[in-house]
Amino acid sequence: MSARTGVLLVVSGPSGSGKTTLCRRLADEQAAHHSISCTTRAPRPGEIDGVNYHFVSREDFEARLAAGDFLEHALVHRNFYGTLRSEVMGHLAAGTDVVMDIDVQGAAQVRACGDPAIQRARVDLFVMPPSESELYARLTGRGTDSEETIALRMTNALEEMQHWPRYTYRLLSATREEDYLRFKAVLTAEQLRVSRLT
Ligand code: 5GP
Repeated sequence: MSARTGVLLVVSGPSGSGKTTLCRRLADEQAAHHSISCTTRAPRPGEIDGVNYHFVSREDFEARLAAGDFLEHALVHRNFYGTLRSEVMGHLAAGTDVVMDIDVQGAAQVRACGDPAIQRARVDLFVMPPSESELYARLTGRGTDSEETIALRMTNALEEMQHWPRYTYRLLSATREEDYLRFKAVLTAEQLRVSRLT
């Protein structure tokens, strides 16, 4: 039987859509490698460097950008975020699936990326919150962000939600369990594609 290359599952959705939880759970179950992004934003309480993100200074981020280390990067909520090539390429080549939790600008860059290995591996999914009111409740419920941050995230979320038609899959969030079952079903289907067999 032939081996296969990894699936690169690119996941976007507004803050509060639940996408990070879905990606983490996949990684916790060792069903995929969760790519750890670099960010210039400050850690939230409880976040750990090297686990949630690689927390870097603006200078470090710019140096890595100039060195061509990023597969994609974007300015989100006034901070830089980027995916290191090293978090993705080797895993895919080894047949490990990679899940990336990135914003709509980053997903557009991955879609437009000229690297054949990325194009062969790539599939994208947008997680939609069930409603505007539920999204607001989820953003407020986190309890770690200021009112100003929540207002900015809400405005950005509504803008971000306009982008779902560009994605291959759209997951309309319901309950955690239902969301996860459908999320995993997408990955399972993508693993079976004949074009991924080596
Ligand atoms: P947060 O600050 O809430 O962790 O993330 C804010 C937004 O940045 C989320 O939409 C998240 O998906 C996005 N994000 C996280 N890492 C990356 C990345 O490496 N690249 C891009 N383009 N967006 C990212």
